[in-house]
Amino acid sequence: MPDSHHGTAPIPHAPGEAVLPGGEYIRERFSDGKRDITRPPIPEPLAVPIYDNHTHLEIKDGDDFTYADALAAAEQAGIAGVIQVGGDVESSQWSAALAAQDARVLAAVALHPNEAPGYASAGTLDDALATIDELATQPRVRAVGETGLDFFRTGDDGRRAQHDSFEAHIAIAKRHGIALQIHDRDAHEAVVETLLRVGAPEVTVFHCFSGDEHLARIAADHGWYLSFSGTVTFSSAKNLHAALRVADRSRILVETDAPFLTPTPFRGRPNSPYLTPLTVRSMADRLGVDADELAAETARNTLRAYGSWDEVR
Ligand SMILES: [Zn+2]
Repeated sequence: MPDSHHGTAPIPHAPGEAVLPGGEYIRERFSDGKRDITRPPIPEPLAVPIYDNHTHLEIKDGDDFTYADALAAAEQAGIAGVIQVGGDVESSQWSAALAAQDARVLAAVALHPNEAPGYASAGTLDDALATIDELATQPRVRAVGETGLDFFRTGDDGRRAQHDSFEAHIAIAKRHGIALQIHDRDAHEAVVETLLRVGAPEVTVFHCFSGDEHLARIAADHGWYLSFSGTVTFSSAKNLHAALRVADRSRILVETDAPFLTPTPFRGRPNSPYLTPLTVRSMADRLGVDADELAAETARNTLRAYGSWDEVR
């Protein structure tokens, strides 16, 4: 969501060595050097396996903690699987490659709404979309995302490209019968309008849900999924707490959007899938329900939305 694909800089390739296209990392999170980049401790696992349905393991964040370290730590924290999400051609190829070689990973592929205008002005949007369409045929690519609309970062000049790209991604998700992961920043109404006009895919997920009670009710009416990130743990996020209360419990998912949006009490420090239990526990506290029960529910929802991590679809 918010920061993904912004405040990140491409890392030059070291070709010929890594199994993954581009190597262990392909981007680096921008840092002003003032952030505390100490890794938070691994939390106590929940009683049941859970999933992080949206993460960016390809982004280096201040130290040498690689995707392999992230997946090992996630296992220790009881995370049964993650969805590795791309935001441009390169990171989508990387995501699909990692999912193809690691049983703990499924992939989502897309051009981020803030990347679409750049492809359009370079005249390469159609080619890039064709690559995403091709990647979406791979058996462990289970979502098209993150795509959507971002009126915060992209001004009027880029809106046309964003809309075109979003609609093309919706069509790709429907064509391949896989989920859609939506990035919606300051664009709630336009996102809903688009989904209703062109027809939403059967599994439609609002990644890093940032709406309020009103949008949560609209989502519930249409059977759309709300994926809550670390932002729901912030005490100031009253809109998210209200949304959580009215959300359809069978449509709630959990994610990190790592390395961004680290849950309380580690806000600002590097995020990683192993911190997912903190968000589940915080949500359970808000709802006044048992954390293991909520964990089991979100795990069931995740498997319904994306299919099993074990099987090749
Ligand atoms: Zn993201």
